[in-house]
Amino acid sequence: MSDFSVEIGPEGITREVIPRLAANMATRQRRALARYKELRDAHDLAGHRLLAYRCPRGCLLLDVFDTDDGTALYWPRHRRSDAANAGTDPKARATRTTDGDHQWIDRADTLAIMFMQTAWLNCDHVLDLHLPAAEIVARLEQVAGLPRRHADRKVIVQ
Ligand SMILES: [Zn+2]
Repeated sequence: MSDFSVEIGPEGITREVIPRLAANMATRQRRALARYKELRDAHDLAGHRLLAYRCPRGCLLLDVFDTDDGTALYWPRHRRSDAANAGTDPKARATRTTDGDHQWIDRADTLAIMFMQTAWLNCDHVLDLHLPAAEIVARLEQVAGLPRRHADRKVIVQ
């Protein structure tokens, strides 16, 4: 199980807790991404993939996979044009692109999906598609018990 939880006391999220939450988030994301790459390199993703969201042309938009830390999400790298970048946070661009601007790196997280509002999906053909986290959760419930490579685990988003 997860070894990077933060104890939140009765006083709630205090100023002291925030840096620990941030550090834990970074650790959690690093571990999830490392695990995804490990599975991919071992050609073992299919055995751990719960859902795969793709664009109509076949690009991977989002992988949902299982880890020892729980269900994880993986967003592949993608490129954004100047126009598409216009609404993005400059700080996010600086830290989450390889060129400081357009080439967004891949990322992963084991953040419990029920605590998320939305997963934003991107590829060369789909820009900022808003996938409500509740839809991911509902789809996970639908496919629970199906074999890992079942067709219902593949979702083409329009
Ligand atoms: Zn695409």
